[in-house]
Amino acid sequence: MCANHTEITPNPSHFEDSEEANQAPAHRDIAWNDYKDLIKGMRFFDPHIHMVSRTTDDYQAMNQAGIVALIEPAFWVGQPRTGLSTFKDYYSSLVGWERFRSSQFGIKHYCTMGLNSREANNEPLAEQVMEILPLYIYKEGVVGVGEIGFDDQTPAEEKYYRLQLELAKEAKLPVQIHTPHRDKKKGTERSMAIALEHGIDPSWVIVDHNNEETVKSVLDQGFWAAFTIYPFTKMGNERMVKVVEQYGPERIMINSAADWGISDPLAIPKTAALMKMRGISDETIRLVTYQNAIDAFGKSGQIDVSDFESGYAVDQSAKFHGNSILRGGQQPAPVKDSLVIN
Ligand SMILES: [Zn+2]
Repeated sequence: MCANHTEITPNPSHFEDSEEANQAPAHRDIAWNDYKDLIKGMRFFDPHIHMVSRTTDDYQAMNQAGIVALIEPAFWVGQPRTGLSTFKDYYSSLVGWERFRSSQFGIKHYCTMGLNSREANNEPLAEQVMEILPLYIYKEGVVGVGEIGFDDQTPAEEKYYRLQLELAKEAKLPVQIHTPHRDKKKGTERSMAIALEHGIDPSWVIVDHNNEETVKSVLDQGFWAAFTIYPFTKMGNERMVKVVEQYGPERIMINSAADWGISDPLAIPKTAALMKMRGISDETIRLVTYQNAIDAFGKSGQIDVSDFESGYAVDQSAKFHGNSILRGGQQPAPVKDSLVIN
């Protein structure tokens, strides 16, 4: 696990032990600022990003880069939890304050709910979490059960993965699978085999953190293949462009998985610009950076594109349970549609 890391660790929850870590990207000299006009007018949907660990600056930059909606999967918070109440507060924040905060920066916020694989290994706590999960998965804006699956591929992880697959089936929700960093290929195959064993239609399952080794099998078996563009790891966006060139856009989606590690909340717009530079069509870019995520998670019945497809109205004077994002003396950003200008 990550207890022994004393240096900066690239996102332990998603990618560990990457032998290619810290390799310089091939085109480090290409500046985002010089190329962001390539994607002007495009809209993006990030189906995997942990905003609870991101800042206001990130929300503003994402909004400016064209991200109109996102999905925040429930995940490990970076240290072991001491009790059930922290799960309750965390799940409540995903449908509460964080969703509100996102709305204040013009981004529609959805989430997936689940017990993550790492914490499935604390069985006494996992049992209690399973009891409260049904209270959260039916809430408005919950578009799936996730991120669930394997981390160390232990028997306890398998047990709670299976239980949550049943929960997803019962609630008619898509499943968002986190595939492990170690033994990724084996873990990915096992995750898919178990989902099929539970009678889940692969078109309801988004298999995440793919790479070149796993993508073919995931697509061949009818699952959605999500790719996480994350610095210092195996999946950089130049390689992502090659995957799209090889496999086309069908059932492929990209995400940033940005969290409290060294990650990039603009991974999707940047990859879109790179795809555009490399001659990939606008329609293919639209599918892998926007539409496919909506089609996959939209099976939940919780996504109404009219909420964000032509921009998302922001009123920064709004409050959540009496609390605003504004602090003493700050003025809300002007409401564009308002007749009164002040
Ligand atoms: Zn994640």
